[in-house]
Amino acid sequence: MESLPSERSNLLGLERPALEAFVAGIGSKPFRARQLMNWIYKRGTASFADMTDLAKEFRVLLEARAEVRAPAIVSVHASSDGTRKWLLRADAAQAFEMVFIPEPDRGTLCISSQVGCALDCSFCATAQQGFNRNLSAAEIVGQVWLAARELEGAEPAAASSSGDSRRVTNVVLMGMGEPLANFRNVVPALRILTDDFGFDLSRRRVTLSTSGLVPQIYKLAEETNVALAVSLHAPDDALRSELVPINRIHPIAELLEACWFYLDEQNGRSVTFEYVMLEGVNDSPAQALALARLLRGHPAKVNLIPFNPFPGTRYRRSSADAIRRFRDELLQRGVLATIRRTRGEDIDAACGQLAGRVIDRTTARLGSKTFGLVVSP
Ligand code: SAH
Repeated sequence: MESLPSERSNLLGLERPALEAFVAGIGSKPFRARQLMNWIYKRGTASFADMTDLAKEFRVLLEARAEVRAPAIVSVHASSDGTRKWLLRADAAQAFEMVFIPEPDRGTLCISSQVGCALDCSFCATAQQGFNRNLSAAEIVGQVWLAARELEGAEPAAASSSGDSRRVTNVVLMGMGEPLANFRNVVPALRILTDDFGFDLSRRRVTLSTSGLVPQIYKLAEETNVALAVSLHAPDDALRSELVPINRIHPIAELLEACWFYLDEQNGRSVTFEYVMLEGVNDSPAQALALARLLRGHPAKVNLIPFNPFPGTRYRRSSADAIRRFRDELLQRGVLATIRRTRGEDIDAACGQLAGRVIDRTTARLGSKTFGLVVSP
């Protein structure tokens, strides 16, 4: 049986001012919020009883009114290259994913912002499942909280013996969903990630990746200063509109203007442009030249992502040669470009392969039958 939704406030979703207000609301001093955050984020504690420097009565109140609840784990998958993927429960029938990518000098956690996605990019596995719902701020922050705990408790595995980091040092919003389409919950989550009393990550170690929701990029510039990545994928509007349909509403010129505005406002160093390499679609030398023309002279870096296939896709990955040639064309024209190393392919954890899963269709059907509905599988 699923337990009933809790009436208690999940503290993982409350940025500092909101937590201070919550603490004041149950009759305690606002500075207690910082002590609480210290326990929750620095020490990874979920149990109020263990927070021994808080007054007993305050802890009892917290137990009644609050909780620290991360998403429940459905399953964990470990790749031969040290990458790990967790399938997390969204509800009885739906799941979403997060991925940890260990490297010698950093540990990157790729988190989701929505269950499914509505943007319908033609080369992305998440798009195929459609949009289910926004993740709450607590579910977004809860992924980082959970991963930190999971990694701490993990057996020293292949990753650590190869000298790879087992700590989350970087967070990228590049999992399932379009973060700027869930602005209301993503912004508080970003604040908790960068708050000194929260995860205390530097703004350069938190990256939000967007398919190009232009008005929300301007809004984001008012709210946060994290690093910005933009899924460009094509050097001209005709092709980009085919690959990333939001381009029909916000074409490339408008998008780039928003990017430069974001950098100016936030005093950022550069915008990363993601470019998925699709054989015979967007990987020709002429397209590299057109891309260089768009970006040359601007604070831009291009990250070429070898396409990761998934069942039913009509695209193929560009050859390693074509990808290198494309990178070299950009470099020769003064545009910084790197090739993203593909990780976690054997567990479907690579970019664009996160599809979540319908956990248990039987439960979903039985659940709906209770309400007299007939739902086809
Ligand atoms: N919605 C956001 C973030 C999620 S996707 C965005 O569009 O930026 C993270 C990155 O993976 C994006 O650049 C996306 O375009 C890319 N991607 C999606 N499907 C892919 C695939 N099959 N192979 C390689 N990269 C993919």
